[in-house]
Amino acid sequence: MSIKRIAVITSGGDAQGMNAAVRSVVRTGLERGLEVFAIYEGYQGMVDGGERIRKMDWDSVGGIMQNGGTVIGTARCERFRTREGRLIAAKNLIEHGIEGLVVIGGDGSLTGANIFHQEWASLLTELVEKGEISAEDVVAHPNLWVVGLVGSIDNDFFGTDMTIGTDTALHRITEAVDSITSTAASHQRTFVVKVMGRNCGYLALMGALACGAEWVLIPENPPDVENWREVMAERLKAGRKAGRRDSIVILAEGARDREGNYIGSNDVQKALEERLGEEVRMTVLGHVQRGGRPSAFDRNLGTLLGYEAVNAIIEARPGDEPLHIGFKGNRIVRLPLMECVEKTHAITEAVEAKDYVKALALRSPSFSDAFRTLKTMARVIPHPPDPDQKRLRIGILNAGTPAPGMNTASRAAARLGLDKGHIMLGIYNGFEGMAENEVEELNWMSMGGWASMGGSGLGTSRRIPVGKDMYAIARTIEINQIDALLIIGGWNAYEAAYKLYNERSNFPAFDIPTICLPASINNNLPGSELSIGADTALNSIVTAVDKIKQSAVATRRCFVVEVMGHWCGYLALLAGMATGAERVYIHEEGVTLSDLQADVEILSQAFRSGKKLGLLIRNEYANKVYTTHFICSLFEEEGRNLFDVRPAILGHQQQGGDPSPFDRIQATRLARLCLDFLIEECEKKSTRSAFVGLEEGKYIYHDMRDFPRMGDLEYQRPREQWWLALRDIASVLARPGSGVD
Ligand code: ADP
Repeated sequence: MSIKRIAVITSGGDAQGMNAAVRSVVRTGLERGLEVFAIYEGYQGMVDGGERIRKMDWDSVGGIMQNGGTVIGTARCERFRTREGRLIAAKNLIEHGIEGLVVIGGDGSLTGANIFHQEWASLLTELVEKGEISAEDVVAHPNLWVVGLVGSIDNDFFGTDMTIGTDTALHRITEAVDSITSTAASHQRTFVVKVMGRNCGYLALMGALACGAEWVLIPENPPDVENWREVMAERLKAGRKAGRRDSIVILAEGARDREGNYIGSNDVQKALEERLGEEVRMTVLGHVQRGGRPSAFDRNLGTLLGYEAVNAIIEARPGDEPLHIGFKGNRIVRLPLMECVEKTHAITEAVEAKDYVKALALRSPSFSDAFRTLKTMARVIPHPPDPDQKRLRIGILNAGTPAPGMNTASRAAARLGLDKGHIMLGIYNGFEGMAENEVEELNWMSMGGWASMGGSGLGTSRRIPVGKDMYAIARTIEINQIDALLIIGGWNAYEAAYKLYNERSNFPAFDIPTICLPASINNNLPGSELSIGADTALNSIVTAVDKIKQSAVATRRCFVVEVMGHWCGYLALLAGMATGAERVYIHEEGVTLSDLQADVEILSQAFRSGKKLGLLIRNEYANKVYTTHFICSLFEEEGRNLFDVRPAILGHQQQGGDPSPFDRIQATRLARLCLDFLIEECEKKSTRSAFVGLEEGKYIYHDMRDFPRMGDLEYQRPREQWWLALRDIASVLARPGSGVD
């Protein structure tokens, strides 16, 4: 017997991106032939029943993805914690014939869902005994399949790298801390910023890493000394002396000391004021972190998790335990819900029991890595070099088109290298500057403030070295005695690095360890699923499209939005998914005239039935002939008086802007990996040339000689592109309804 009716519910604290998940559950369910209900106001609505359980159609979830919070409401419900409350809830579900439940909430909500699932059979028996439902009802609906999606800004759930809402909360935190930093720097002030995270220091830690804060206090790793207040104040004082103009301390709301006592913001403020002898300002970010438009990542995460949740319910068999749909290594995964809930509680219990080693161990390894990196990055001066060590001379260069996050990566590489005792050389203006010997030794403060700055402070150029450049570049390497080279950039940078690698027999100077760090908004680099800058560009596109959509609510209009990416459709597809575009045109799929005719027909029908706004996203190189203007003219002509069509070519705003939190975190992580690689190669006396990237959750170094095998040199993109698998999901959810999406 196959399942026919499912319901979606949001519960507990709200999180940005819940709407995308609700939309995705509803539309995927409808597409798969199910009847879908939304339960309004969390478990309270399930207990109340009646109007609170509503049948949804395609348009009921139109136009909600760009809103924060949850449009179906959420609540805390004490009655659901009791069996009596759950008994009424079960009766309400049976009355509607609901057999599958997608619960979007925090660990409390998912614990409740699991209990409800375990009790289901006994609740039904009791309802029959009480005469509330019939024995036939039980035969008709013997199972309740439960799938949980974690909606929580804290990122405090075991088994998933990111929970819905975390990325947006980090956006709010970085926006706030960046603003505070500029005023703090103007007045040379000290600020304490308190962020959310009762049991989890993720937001505080990543916020500090992303914003270049000097000190962080989190629950899982309290200060290791009793006199931490002195140590912290001394650190801040020394930072000032060394030239820092701002001092920022980030405090997670659940931070504690070694004895398990909560560290309050007043405590930190007072401790610093007493020791620094100056006024210390405090900002408690509070609910701002839960608010605002969801980031592109959270919209897409909610969408993908919701899609998978419905599929998991459809595929469920009697006796199956509830599932948690998580996000691991850039992929959607199905995990046992209860085990994840238990492990989540185990972390909280470890913190309560002051077993901080266990608490940290239960978090992902990247959490501890990030903490270690932050401790280095926030130092006032680097560790002094070991007198016995060979001090390497490592060059850092930005090449190709600028990408947000290049500065973060350059700064991180420089500091991490200096801290290991090496000499870090900034090479200015890409390979062009390298040919001109524009090289300068970097010191600890050379890149102060670069963590959050867009563009390329080192300067970059798109020129790929040719002919006599090669000789000049080799000379620069020799003159500066460069032992190893870090190249941060996009396709041109990779091509240049490949050329240098191939010229090693002619220019022995090139025979040094070299590594490319993927930085391109196009996300078109082989060996890397996500290059630095792409997330920022995606958010810029989504922000622009949100505004474009708002501008057109009163008219019947269709927009054709052209986005960058060269021949890679990543930005177009992911932006299409995050904005609810009806159609995405990408070079990988090609565009034909009959496609366009079919699209006009679909759109015309939708506008005929009351649609007000159409949205098409076109990758800049999708097709040479069917340009954005061509598509606009064609649709305008064929759409007749049903709708008009406007182009929106987003242009260079996609390359600009301060890097998003994800790009900053990723840039820092990749910089550390690149540096480790170069140092290790030098120690091994090897001269490998490589490019690095994240693939299916693992960071892999690929040999430079694999560049032409892994990259499509004609269309400048990887031969295998993981995200193409998302096309089906995007197209299922984007089917035009009659409303505004
Ligand atoms: P979150 O889901 O964000 O962690 P809460 O812990 O407040 O938020 O849980 C939200 C709701 O989930 C509660 O108000 C309650 O209705 C339900 N819930 C939480 N824990 C349980 C439990 N142990 N048993 C049954 N229901 C629970």
